[in-house]
Amino acid sequence: METLEFQSEARQLLQLMIHSIYSNKDTFLRELVSNASDALDKLRLESFRDKDMKVDVDDLHIVIETDPAERTLTVRDNGIGMTREDVVRLIGTIAKSGTAEFLRQLKEQQSSTSSDLIGQFGIGFYSSFMVADKVTLVTKYPHAEKGVRWESTGESTYTIEDVDDAPQGTSVTLHLKPADDEDRLPDYTEPAKIREIVKRYSDFITWPVRLGGEEINSRKALWARPASEVTEEEYAEFYRHISHDWNAPLETIRMQAEGTFEYQALLFLPSQAPLDLFMRDSKRGVQLYVKRVFIMDDCAELMPEYLRFVKGVVDAADLSLNVSREILQQDRHIQLMRRRLVKKVLSSIKSLMSSRTEDYLKLWREVGAALKEGLLSDFDNRDAILEICSFASTHSESELTSLADYVSRMKEGQEHIYYMTGDSRTAVENSPHMEALRAKGYEVLILTDPIDEMWVDSVPSFDGKPFQSVAKGQVDLETEEEKSANEAKAAEFADLLSWMSTSLAEDVKEVRLSTRLTTSPACVVGDAHDITPTLEKMYKAMGQELPKIKRILELNPSHPLVEGLHKAFAAGERESLADTAELVYGLALLAEGGELADPSRFVKLVADRVQRTF
Ligand code: ADP
Repeated sequence: METLEFQSEARQLLQLMIHSIYSNKDTFLRELVSNASDALDKLRLESFRDKDMKVDVDDLHIVIETDPAERTLTVRDNGIGMTREDVVRLIGTIAKSGTAEFLRQLKEQQSSTSSDLIGQFGIGFYSSFMVADKVTLVTKYPHAEKGVRWESTGESTYTIEDVDDAPQGTSVTLHLKPADDEDRLPDYTEPAKIREIVKRYSDFITWPVRLGGEEINSRKALWARPASEVTEEEYAEFYRHISHDWNAPLETIRMQAEGTFEYQALLFLPSQAPLDLFMRDSKRGVQLYVKRVFIMDDCAELMPEYLRFVKGVVDAADLSLNVSREILQQDRHIQLMRRRLVKKVLSSIKSLMSSRTEDYLKLWREVGAALKEGLLSDFDNRDAILEICSFASTHSESELTSLADYVSRMKEGQEHIYYMTGDSRTAVENSPHMEALRAKGYEVLILTDPIDEMWVDSVPSFDGKPFQSVAKGQVDLETEEEKSANEAKAAEFADLLSWMSTSLAEDVKEVRLSTRLTTSPACVVGDAHDITPTLEKMYKAMGQELPKIKRILELNPSHPLVEGLHKAFAAGERESLADTAELVYGLALLAEGGELADPSRFVKLVADRVQRTF
């Protein structure tokens, strides 16, 4: 017998369980039954693939046994089991992505709210320690010679030893804490209690769950039952079973297709983003069943990556039970099905948007950044995705706007949907690029998600209205009158502009007069296809080398600083003007929240100037 230590994260979670104030302790049984059900699914699949496997798959089932005298509760399955290595890896450590994040959040919160977080994380097997002070697990993997016995009190260590006579599958025996009404710890050796919990949480489990020789779950697949007969609570429990998210889903979507390729789908939108939504190895896709038989988890062929927060089940009638990922990738029916699923999800979000706006906004805040990835990857549904996007805008301090609402507020003669990207709302609002638009009362979308930088470059328009960055290209807001006045100014400033272009040639590709400034002396803008400074920063942060990007310096001809510059230039001044030009460029960079290439040089130039005023 060996005594081993739990990994430190596992230890922390166990402590949480032992001292849990989570009020709904019944859920431990759901977790154990859910694990047993997964183990039976796996064994059946394995036996399809490996015909030589010496296992009995004729009567796969889950048995629950209680012993009031010993105060034990056992959940037993004859499923896939675990090897000794599996037990150490799966039970002794927590490898789930998002665990570190979960623990960090937990540390930040007071213990009074930690129970909610526990609920969100779904800690599976460890939840046994909410109700037991010792847990014994005996398991055998079909190809392993011996079985394994694992035992722990949930403190820092566990024991593990080989056993010769372990039966196929896994049994988990809980040595129950004393029942205690005050601590809301019911007597889990009561058959009636067990029956009630299984009925409530695990009724849909496709394998028989037996108690005292009797089957206590109805085993009906939810998606195969008439929608009118399934309760919200049943959907919620099923959602928890497949998603490991303990929150109720925000929306349930059902689909059915008859005919040559028959399938049923039961999909869920989450009320909270999965913790791993933006992690590299995040899970995606829905579960695939064939005629009620579980085939695979995370079937990526059925759901595009940008909809990875959608969980659920697709049950296809006409696939082979042996279907592999390779086959799925090439199957025309699967592709057709995926297209329909995607359209259905997008249209469901659209109807949420109009009928349950609060819920829509909740969803958007949680998963909007993922959804927007679809603007780059799902060309066919681009318009449908744009319709369900919401953005911050200068129209409101706190409320988001849809593009349709933006368009409905567009001014007479306004042709573009104006936007500005940046690090934060404040940076965008204070940027000099916004001045003329503000002065003219045009609404500007404020885009601050990193993904915004990407999609705005590839999505040309919405509802026939082109997107236009206020920091790129020429912003064409002038009246005819203003236009001719500006042309006159440009002629007047032509020599200064060309001299400055040469003087600042290291940093900018052009110096020109601006039509977008009212109060600032200058700003820096990009050409329509230049990458933005934020994007440049993102690429650099990812370690990508980029060639130096030169942008355009725009001057405000009615600003006293620029007027002064013009006068000095006309008077023949050159030497100190080169410094001034550099200063103006530096100010423009600082105004948009940008970084100076050589801050110390800039400081010296400013200090010199200030000194001269004394
Ligand atoms: P989760 O089920 O969320 O992955 P758990 O802590 O409940 O997390 O279980 C960890 C892993 O241990 C499971 O993913 C599974 O691989 C394995 N496991 C748990 N219970 C069983 C069981 N009854 N039979 C086989 N493997 C199991």
